[in-house]
Amino acid sequence: MDISLRGWLRTLEECGKLKTVSRAVDARFEAAAVAKKLSPDYCVRFDNIKGHTVPVVCGLASTREDFAKSMGLTVHELMERFNQALERPVPCELVPGEGCAVKERIIQGADVDLERILPACVHHEKDAGKFLTAAMLITKDPETGIRNVAIHRHQLKGGNKLGALLLPRHTWSIFGKAESRGKPLEVALVIGCHPALLLSSQATTRLGVDEFEIAGALTGAPVKMVKCETVDLEVPVECEFVLEGRLLPNIRESEGPFGEYPRTYGPESSKHVLEITCVTHRAQPIYHTIVPATTEHLLLGAIPREAVMTQLIRQAGPNVLAVNLTPAGGCRYHCVIQIDKRNAGEAKNAMFAAFTSSTEVKHVVVVDKDVDPFDPYDVEWAISTRCQAGRDVFIVRGAMGNKLDPSSDNGVSDKMGIDATIPWTDPNREHFLKMEIPGLDAIDLSEYLD
Ligand code: MN
Repeated sequence: MDISLRGWLRTLEECGKLKTVSRAVDARFEAAAVAKKLSPDYCVRFDNIKGHTVPVVCGLASTREDFAKSMGLTVHELMERFNQALERPVPCELVPGEGCAVKERIIQGADVDLERILPACVHHEKDAGKFLTAAMLITKDPETGIRNVAIHRHQLKGGNKLGALLLPRHTWSIFGKAESRGKPLEVALVIGCHPALLLSSQATTRLGVDEFEIAGALTGAPVKMVKCETVDLEVPVECEFVLEGRLLPNIRESEGPFGEYPRTYGPESSKHVLEITCVTHRAQPIYHTIVPATTEHLLLGAIPREAVMTQLIRQAGPNVLAVNLTPAGGCRYHCVIQIDKRNAGEAKNAMFAAFTSSTEVKHVVVVDKDVDPFDPYDVEWAISTRCQAGRDVFIVRGAMGNKLDPSSDNGVSDKMGIDATIPWTDPNREHFLKMEIPGLDAIDLSEYLD
């Protein structure tokens, strides 16, 4: 399977899902605005970003179908495949750097001027400046040598400097190990990758799993990697840009604000700083940016999280059918779990498992198998007809949540579970039956209408 950005763009073009813009477009707001108007129906390539020669793509995959199709799968198959990939990762393959396209241009030293090299965009009104939003950050745990891959936002700070937001997850804890010894942490940022690599980078697995090994299992072949020029790290052969550098110890500088996935701004504060020592790129590279809170951004977070949650909830109770992290909840905070309920109390156990899967999960709704967890109307119907708040809603106060949730107390958050399933022991179960018109689905209106 072709896991290059270019291969995927060709596929999008063939099926009419790639729009191109040849007129001059400003990297400040205008590109994001056009891309947002085209989302989720189309990917867009801007061939003439003002002041730059490098084209910008946006919206590589904006529906569940797009992500599945990029791996030649259906949506249902993608969830199953992701679960298998988490259980059986495939090690990456190191290949020689000679002739590797991403090394066609190598820029070092004083020539590393990121604003000049990258057509980075300003996405939202109050953003502090230009941000890289689709760069995967590769590091290695200094104690185990195991690779970690993550996407963080990176603010261009002039010259070779970037600001970064590290939430208390894997990169944060790996960097902490280096920083506690007063040492920098080598990093590589890769931009311009296939959706499968981006998706695997978002797997919410335990620390110590190389996300590119999950990508190998997802795509059915080891991900080919090549050594960096100035740091002791490897990057995927198939990418457009590589930024090599270091996360600096004991330095924090102003970063943000930045419009984030909850459709609110993450505030300005003192955050981590990276220094880029070398940039390699293809002779005619393509730059990828993700407009925050579009479905491209949200689903990148949702699909891997849903797979991990499905696994965890299955351990708590085998009857889970589907998990949906809903877009209006930023694909992080709100979760709908569909179960084939067989036992009293089962819905609550599913909620406990969902809350433990990620600190971000805040409100959980559990529905029966006759309710479509991906249809907000159906979910609300279940809450309205199957739930009594005094009996079916529980609240846990003061758990660990997400700092980007503006209603949290700097990340400390209440959790709420809503059981919208039919009470198992209710003697009047038929009162809950969803009414149906027999034969509705089989009606072909063209046979009826004049
Ligand atoms: Mn990780």
